[in-house]
Amino acid sequence: MTRRWTVGVDFGATNVKVGLVSPTGHVAAAQALESRDVGRPGRFVEAVSEAAERLARSVGERPATLRGVGVGVPGPVDVRREVVEFLVNVPGWRRVPLRRWLERRLRCRCAVDNDANLAALGEFAFGAGRGARGLVCLTLGTGVGGGLILDGSLVHGASGSAGEVGHMVIDPRGPRCGCGARGCLEAHVGTAALLRMGRQALREGAGPLRRLTREAGGRLTPAVLSRAARLGDARAQRIWAAFGHWLGIGVANLANLLNPDRVILGGGVAGAWSLFYPSLSGTVRAQALATAARSVRIVRARLGTRAGIVGAAVLIWGAKGGKPA
Ligand SMILES: [Zn+2]
Repeated sequence: MTRRWTVGVDFGATNVKVGLVSPTGHVAAAQALESRDVGRPGRFVEAVSEAAERLARSVGERPATLRGVGVGVPGPVDVRREVVEFLVNVPGWRRVPLRRWLERRLRCRCAVDNDANLAALGEFAFGAGRGARGLVCLTLGTGVGGGLILDGSLVHGASGSAGEVGHMVIDPRGPRCGCGARGCLEAHVGTAALLRMGRQALREGAGPLRRLTREAGGRLTPAVLSRAARLGDARAQRIWAAFGHWLGIGVANLANLLNPDRVILGGGVAGAWSLFYPSLSGTVRAQALATAARSVRIVRARLGTRAGIVGAAVLIWGAKGGKPA
């Protein structure tokens, strides 16, 4: 049987993951390319195509017999999903017609979308979003990515930037965000905000946080902050409570605006779940309309780092609910 396999590509900060996805959403094999080496558009097309060819060969296929190749990129894609407008933190990408270039090289169906949208699509089809009608998927890390699915379809908006929940303003007098605005969700719960609060706590006193930071060679990270909180460091625990509070304000706004039945939290920082969830859910209950708060379930992402690859494959299937036709 041909056209069973799909290749999904996830363009991340440190590497580009290329995976072979079965019709049941299983990642059968994957390769990682260094983002640094494949950063430029021309080189990216060539390196990803070679990886797709190798993966196709490993199951006795060639690119032309695949269902297609889906790609998630860390930046906005135009509304017709033809052109990558630019990439965050990757130079050399300005209005790149990535879909056309890949199709010309691989001679199979290709599709391109934003990486956070594809993480949402992956979770919707095969992860924590299964069975949901409407969901918001937040990826917590250096930035706060967001993907939005309503009535079973990915929402792109007028120019392709819908779902940028990291730049919802939750306190207009809050800290400056990387986007230039003030008080975005990302400026409150992104890694930089966590570390800013952590450094303040380090200045204030001794305790597990100071000891663990020293043991980590003086490097404060979200992982150090969560270990300290678990060891009973009161300052670190307060930081996670503040994190949960700000995230809860954001989720309450999303619940009121969109009335999703699921909010999915993924990304490395979601690993601190038990430290911030009580404060998060308390804030949502206090701030969201009762009907919206009652109907939303806040859950952890299930697919981990595979979400982008799986979502890129679902993009090719173009299926509501993710089942291949
Ligand atoms: Zn912002």
